[in-house]
Amino acid sequence: MYKIESIAQIVNGTFLQKGDNAVIEHLLYDSRTVSFPAASLFFALHTQRQDGHYFIADAYRKGVRCFVVDREIVLDELPGATVLRVANTLQALQQLAMHHRKQFSIPVIGITGSNGKTVVKEWLYQLLQMDYKIARSPKSYNSQIGVPLSVWQLQPEHTLALFEAGISHKGEMQTLAAIIQPTIGVLTNIGEAHSENFDSLEQKAIEKVQLFQTAEVVVYPEDDSVASLVLHQGERSDLLPYKHFSWGNSPYAQLHVDAVSIQDGRALVAAVYNKQSFQIIVPFIDDASVQNALTCSSVLLQLGYSVDVINERLQGLHAVDMRLQLKHGLNNSVIINDSYSADLTSLHIALHFMSQQNVEQKRTVILSDFVESGLVETRLYEIIAAALVQHRVSRVIAIGEKISRYIVAYLPDSIQLQCFLSTEEFLAQIKISTFQQEVILVKGARRFLFERVVQLLEVKVHQTRLEINLNAISHNLKQYQALLKPSTKVMVMVKAFAYGSGSSEIASVLQFNKVDYLGVAYADEGVALRKGGISLPIMVMNADEASFYSITEYNLQPVLYSFEILERFEQHVQNTGLQNYPVHLEVETGMNRLGFAVSDIEAVGKHLRDQSLLAVESLFSHLAASEDPAQDAYTQQQAGLYQQAAAALEKYITYPFLKHISNSAAIVRHPQLQWDMVRLGIGVYGVEIATEKLDLQPVATLRTTIAQLKHLIPGESVSYNRRGVVTAPSLIATVRIGYADGYSRRLGYGTGKMWVNGQLVPVIGTVCMDMTMINVTHLPHVKVGDEVVVFGNELPIEQLAGWAGTIPYEIMTGISQRVKRVYFQE
Ligand SMILES: *Cc1c(COP(=O)(O)O)cnc(C)c1O
Repeated sequence: MYKIESIAQIVNGTFLQKGDNAVIEHLLYDSRTVSFPAASLFFALHTQRQDGHYFIADAYRKGVRCFVVDREIVLDELPGATVLRVANTLQALQQLAMHHRKQFSIPVIGITGSNGKTVVKEWLYQLLQMDYKIARSPKSYNSQIGVPLSVWQLQPEHTLALFEAGISHKGEMQTLAAIIQPTIGVLTNIGEAHSENFDSLEQKAIEKVQLFQTAEVVVYPEDDSVASLVLHQGERSDLLPYKHFSWGNSPYAQLHVDAVSIQDGRALVAAVYNKQSFQIIVPFIDDASVQNALTCSSVLLQLGYSVDVINERLQGLHAVDMRLQLKHGLNNSVIINDSYSADLTSLHIALHFMSQQNVEQKRTVILSDFVESGLVETRLYEIIAAALVQHRVSRVIAIGEKISRYIVAYLPDSIQLQCFLSTEEFLAQIKISTFQQEVILVKGARRFLFERVVQLLEVKVHQTRLEINLNAISHNLKQYQALLKPSTKVMVMVKAFAYGSGSSEIASVLQFNKVDYLGVAYADEGVALRKGGISLPIMVMNADEASFYSITEYNLQPVLYSFEILERFEQHVQNTGLQNYPVHLEVETGMNRLGFAVSDIEAVGKHLRDQSLLAVESLFSHLAASEDPAQDAYTQQQAGLYQQAAAALEKYITYPFLKHISNSAAIVRHPQLQWDMVRLGIGVYGVEIATEKLDLQPVATLRTTIAQLKHLIPGESVSYNRRGVVTAPSLIATVRIGYADGYSRRLGYGTGKMWVNGQLVPVIGTVCMDMTMINVTHLPHVKVGDEVVVFGNELPIEQLAGWAGTIPYEIMTGISQRVKRVYFQE
């Protein structure tokens, strides 16, 4: 807690205006995530596309009264607020964190490296939490903004801290090092991730080890040649005067690893430490987990733990699943599954995620006892209750002795409260029918086994599912935004159920990321978005007379593409008594699909000038071959025609309207055509057509499972018409997906492959309506229930589309609605 006056001194700021004396407990930079407005200080930061100064008014509306700015702002609209002016808001945030860090003399573990930072941090937390009160970075807060916010969490009761540091540019680690000031450094590895801004791996390593300037000891993998080279150089040059503690196969490693073998789903590591041989048992078998476990074991050895204690604790490690899953619940409810953790930081993250969902639905939170936090219980549950009130939760179901005892005192009567002493008691007594059309957050500490609560509330359908990674949507959007001028607006096309990935769920993420417009094909799609709580402007490309009523009723914006539709819509607007209704005009330049002829635009302009029923929001055209270098002349010709049309319209329409022509491929290939707005489609869903310039993440993964296995002998056949005949003894798996789910019949007879247990295996025989058979003869350890990836990270959708002789667009939009969509956010 800091008085605002002390903060002003620390960050060297001057007061532009001073309100009531405030005591600051929370730091904020995103006005969408306000939890405790009265005790929060808002930093107006400049990020790639946003200027936080524009969101001060929003934060003020939500009750925030203290602000740090680095330019002039209008103070009239902020009565009673305290506004602190500094030279640079990001630096001020970092200075404040540095100052805060200096108040503590506890062990601080600073973790960096290319992969595994978050897992190592979370595992060290799992391994050490019984002995220490630990402060740690939330999720993977490891950036120039994330690190100061993490360090700010340090409180007097903490006895250990775990912070991660990640960099993507030269020079950034210096700052993070000064904020974290680790006493123990951990380097996980040096790999290719985030390398684009470094000249070489070595340079990246040199940059990363800057974190360790204050460290007394650094833990790292000796076998990682770049890492050990750089660290040994540092040692020679006395630049970095710390001790080394390395693990690996190398003779120089203090924790020497002789061999790793796999047995019963565990990795057995034969190791030598201090001349003593022993075995480390890791309850995971993949390489990355084994490496992360060895990094953690080294830290524990360094902290003085015995091998026996380390082994005992390793057995309790669980996978780090930081994903918030969104599932379809019974009675039209939506479930947010966060049944892995119960601490204040993750509660805030989950509540914000909840607020992003349908704004109108009732909100219920099912919450267990909290495990941390060093706070006295009354204070802890008071804070939890305040967060629940702030996020407009209407019902709280408390499960556990502590929460049941303490939370009552802090919840207002307007929130319905039900208490249960245990998960069993809840499961035995609760009536499912009491959950109706609401958003339900299920959040509890691991020992409460809330996955059983989720199972109870979830709709159960056949096991094939399309997993949608909502973070990837935001990530891909940013990739495209980075190619745009800051002033260029973005419309994201969410037609055809957001290219198959779900409508309002995707639209909520886009709305949260502040895109400017959404585009749909038909009015019904727009209506569904409005019912899902989407308030962004929505353009409807294919409006017909039958849909005019819903268009005006739901405040959608139609595209007018012919005189006939223009006149009819105008008539409708007049009949409804509306004025200046926003419409978009499409002009035909070479796609030959919909649109006014260029030569008609003068007449359209004249007509629209003389009326006040319709207002032109934009004029656009659609490119037919923006992805194809062989057609670049045609694309230019389309652009030229479009400009003629725009000039013609401007003669009559004197107010500003938006001009746009670019789709995803054009944003990358024809940057000069971005004009006022672009229409982003397939790219946001993770597919880059024609170029490979961006670092997109796949959004959708289609998974199914094995229903049965069969041994066949030579001459036996598989599926209809007996066209899949085996010539050798074979093992055939039946998987739960068929052409009715969108798995094309063209993928039969070995044309298509699926990914099972790390390998691609071919389809055998005809694809059936609901099932497909695959040949798993050469797969070790395959069993009924195993997961099968149809497309996703492991098997790109582009590849599947190639096999099926089509394009990713058709595969994505062809996944049938009976395939359950599961959304998650990391
Ligand atoms: C679908 C569509 C887009 C988006 O195209 P992508 O190739 O998916 O980027 C843009 N504009 C119009 C008119 C569209 O119909």
